[in-house]
Amino acid sequence: MTDVTARPVLSALQFALGEIVSTDPVELDAARADRSGHVADGTPIAVVHARTIEDVQALMRFATETRTPVVTRGAGTGLAGAANASTGEIVLSTLAMNRVLEVSTDDELAVVEPGIINADLNALLRPHGLWFAPDPASRAISTVGGNIATNAGGLLCAKYGVTRDAVIGLKVVLADGTLLEVGRRTVKGVTGLDLTGLMIGSEGLLGVIVEATLRLRRIDPAPVSTIGAYFSTVEAAARAASVISSSGIRPAIMEILDRPAMAAIAAHLSLDVRQDAYLVVQTDGGAAPAEAQAALGIIQSLGGEAEVSTDPEHGERLLAIRRAFHPSLLALGEVLIEDVCVPRSALPAMFGAIEEIGKKYGLAIPTVAHAGDGNLHPNFVFVADPDAEYGVPATVWAAADEMFLAALRLGGTLTGEHGVGILKRRWLGDELGQPQLELQRQIKAVFDPQGLLNPGKVF
Ligand SMILES: Cc1cc2nc3c(=O)[nH]c(=O)nc-3n(C[C@H](O)[C@H](O)[C@H](O)COP(=O)(O)OP(=O)(O)OC[C@H]3O[C@@H](n4cnc5c(N)ncnc54)[C@H](O)[C@@H]3O)c2cc1C
Repeated sequence: MTDVTARPVLSALQFALGEIVSTDPVELDAARADRSGHVADGTPIAVVHARTIEDVQALMRFATETRTPVVTRGAGTGLAGAANASTGEIVLSTLAMNRVLEVSTDDELAVVEPGIINADLNALLRPHGLWFAPDPASRAISTVGGNIATNAGGLLCAKYGVTRDAVIGLKVVLADGTLLEVGRRTVKGVTGLDLTGLMIGSEGLLGVIVEATLRLRRIDPAPVSTIGAYFSTVEAAARAASVISSSGIRPAIMEILDRPAMAAIAAHLSLDVRQDAYLVVQTDGGAAPAEAQAALGIIQSLGGEAEVSTDPEHGERLLAIRRAFHPSLLALGEVLIEDVCVPRSALPAMFGAIEEIGKKYGLAIPTVAHAGDGNLHPNFVFVADPDAEYGVPATVWAAADEMFLAALRLGGTLTGEHGVGILKRRWLGDELGQPQLELQRQIKAVFDPQGLLNPGKVF
């Protein structure tokens, strides 16, 4: 139900923006949550379905005049609560802005609207022999705008980079409705400060991304090689991954699942898998077979029992175990998907720390890692507690707290790819320190002096 105190704003909004304003209770309710499990207490005023840059500008001018906060939202698949909207806020949905405006094979770039789904973009690019490399596991359901606003990672980052490496220019609508064009469409360019870089990963705090110029890659038709390997401990699997990286091999994919993760997968999907730690490595490009052989040698020398395949279907079966991770956990209960990143050499130590924390708190913490990046997703499965902060039991928060501090001690970071949103705000100062935190707040205030964009998130 719409908040009655918001009625005058709603009427004015409907008058200003017309049919693109929705008050459908189902839509309002959906906008309270993303995929983090957190649901905002209140209900937003309306969802505005922008179709054009002018719509976004009109909304932001309205927001500035009426001092009404705006939460920009792509597909709502975020894992940090950053797109969740509450009482007194307007939701700006970009889903209807989903066109590809240009594909240039010569310049290896595309210009797109923010609401296009990542996988849809890649399907459209395939006939051009091109692809957009950022591939979060949510690529079939998340928007490119959301990928940019979270600087999304995924399975291919060690070799192909994160979203930041694939975005060279943006059009952004600021809080007062001003349209800004930042970045370039050239391979190089250093004019002025890098505002494109600042926007990427800014979680809807600095402006609304309304258009993006993306750097594309040529599709390499060479067949891939895939290795599936079991280890008796996750530390041994992590050591193998670290040695593969430090020996200069650059797998396209290198993922580790620990024993609790494999147990969950085996239980849920009745897959014929062993409940040991699992390392899956995929190499691509012309050097794929040689790199796979070198990786296999390292795996076997460190005690891994491995099989390698160049057959696409067999390779997909070896990867399917990894892809089954999220659905298997969701079947067990509420899940808090965590996201720490450590230097690659510290990966075995971070797995060790997670095991210790799990024992201390009596929790199984199934963990998957993008091992080539040192990025771990420890998952807490629990029964929601309505009286606890965000429904997450205090024991889980205590264990998560220790885990974040362990990652920071190992030279790592609180979040490798999911962002801060609301769920990690309280640890931000631990990583940034007060002077940097203050500087970041000041930067936010320069872009958005009235604090209208995604208030209460990150800071
Ligand atoms: C099953 C599953 C697997 C996932 N795997 C990965 C993974 O491998 N790697 C990874 O990085 N993430 C992953 N995610 C998290 C999530 O999909 C990403 O963060 C994704 O980039 C969010 O895109 P979205 O369109 O859903 O954005 P939303 O959730 O709608 O929004 C996320 C943030 O971006 C802001 N935003 C969205 N659009 C704009 C815009 N146009 N302008 C300004 N701000 C904007 C929002 O305000 C919010 O702060 C996964 C999620 C799920 C559910």
